[in-house]
Amino acid sequence: MDTKIIQVDEQHIQEELLRQAGGIIRAGGLVAFPTETVYGLGGDALNPGSSKKIYAAKGRPSDNPLIVHICRMEDLAYLVKEIPEAAVKLAEKFWPGPLTMIFHKSEAVPPETTGGLDTVAVRMPSHKAALAFIREAGGYVAAPSANRSGRPSPTSAKYVAEDMAGRIEMILDGGDVEIGLESTIIDMTEEEPVILRPGYITKEMLEEVLSSVGEDGTMMADNCRQAPKAPGMKYRHYAPKGSLMIVDGEEEQVTAYINGQTERLRKEGHKTGVIGTDATIARYRGDVCKSAGDRDDERTIAKELYRILREFDEEEVTAIFSESFDTAGIGQAIMNRLLKAAGHHIIHL
Ligand code: AMP
Ligand code: MG
Repeated sequence: MDTKIIQVDEQHIQEELLRQAGGIIRAGGLVAFPTETVYGLGGDALNPGSSKKIYAAKGRPSDNPLIVHICRMEDLAYLVKEIPEAAVKLAEKFWPGPLTMIFHKSEAVPPETTGGLDTVAVRMPSHKAALAFIREAGGYVAAPSANRSGRPSPTSAKYVAEDMAGRIEMILDGGDVEIGLESTIIDMTEEEPVILRPGYITKEMLEEVLSSVGEDGTMMADNCRQAPKAPGMKYRHYAPKGSLMIVDGEEEQVTAYINGQTERLRKEGHKTGVIGTDATIARYRGDVCKSAGDRDDERTIAKELYRILREFDEEEVTAIFSESFDTAGIGQAIMNRLLKAAGHHIIHL
């Protein structure tokens, strides 16, 4: 299959191009598109055949449900059994935006889209080209991240093409994404809404709207006996090809430890990599050293993390060490993804 790559500009929406892209979805095909979080791999959420194609293109296990993207609040009712009052409040505050809510699904949503679950995850993204595309596609676009299963989510169209060229009809290239980590997922089917996956919208932000919000106990844990409620969280996600170890501790100890390890491993024939921050990166002596951004503004780190993991793959780095990050605010989402990428390989000095 020849994959068409088309430039889209959030500031100047080209209706005709998006109509063409929407037509592909209506006809049962797949189109990758930019959102504010990461690139999505879109198909018609109401067409079981489209969802099957998404799983095939990603190489994703079919028990891992997709998120349904909408472009108007009034379209939510068609997908769900009921809309709890708390969900209306969250939507008013955070939609369009990087928040996914889970509801009991209506008959309209095929089980192929929800991985066989009787609940459905729904999000309204804020990216303007994404909203126009969803409208042209018929209003209901199922879209997981547009990476091959097990690879970091794509934060630019270049990485979508790396994973998906030849497998899907079209890629809408909207440049680099704004946030760089996937949406926060919150389960609205419980009496007390529960966060299943941390993201840009933090627990504190949600608690400004709702009095109490829970957290899935498996979110940051390793080897938990309990299965995570968001099925995707059980898979080893976001993994670079090289080994990755997180090193936690006082700044000076961390630098010294990582320099010792990279020196030792280089002698053993490894190509070594380091993920540091703007303030520390010059001190490292690994073969490939990359700053994830500014510790004082962790949004910069969220934005760069997946790109950096992919670059270590491109440069064939075989042993990577990363500094650890604070788990306050968006830091929780950063550490959640980094721990998964590292297979929970962390050392506390
Ligand atoms: P991705 O779009 O790649 O970020 O993957 C979507 C993720 O959303 C899945 O891996 C699940 O973890 C989660 N998800 C989607 N639908 C549901 C649902 N009905 N219940 C719980 N988690 C869900
Ligand atoms: Mg994903």
